[in-house]
Amino acid sequence: MAEVTNGKYVCELCGQKRNSSFFYPYYGGQYSDKTKVRYCKDCCSKRLVHYKGFLNEQAALWMVLSELGIPFIKAVYRQVTDEQEIKRNNKPEFVGHYIKRLSEYPKIYSGFWDSDIGLNEILEKQSQDDENSEMDLEEMKEIWGKYPDDEYAEAYIFLQKTFKEYTEELPGDMDANLTNRYRDLCKAEYRKRKADEGGDIS
Ligand SMILES: [Zn+2]
Repeated sequence: MAEVTNGKYVCELCGQKRNSSFFYPYYGGQYSDKTKVRYCKDCCSKRLVHYKGFLNEQAALWMVLSELGIPFIKAVYRQVTDEQEIKRNNKPEFVGHYIKRLSEYPKIYSGFWDSDIGLNEILEKQSQDDENSEMDLEEMKEIWGKYPDDEYAEAYIFLQKTFKEYTEELPGDMDANLTNRYRDLCKAEYRKRKADEGGDIS
């Protein structure tokens, strides 16, 4: 919570003394327009950008809220992201938007420790999503053919990686014919690799 001096609040991050409109109201137990969060609005945005440099949006917000002492509530986050999606061209600032919706939420929370999801959970979900989005198994089967159950993950990872290595330096677009030649080459590489490992693949 920012300190008040003669009607001004001091941002704990940038140290600037500014009037109340530059700060979001603090949420802790109940909404109060008199109590403000410890960082000014600009610094809240900057912290979010900072965390988004290496975390997904949900985790980044979680981190900013942890600094502000404000609980992360999944339902409120979902509401905010839905609304942001609709206001595609005129998105309200994310942290402020979240605090506003949290203050309207029927349940009252006392502080950050009331958050209903942990950072680990968010990050685990993110890495699962990343893997799933990188590898659509149906699509892989179509491109590379079927592999045994205990092997397909390894096969598809190897094939995708090898194909990328072979083709990423090629100038210009690849036509279907060229694409197929490179895929054949990758499959041959994979067969060779398995054979070298002593595996029995034909
Ligand atoms: Zn600031």
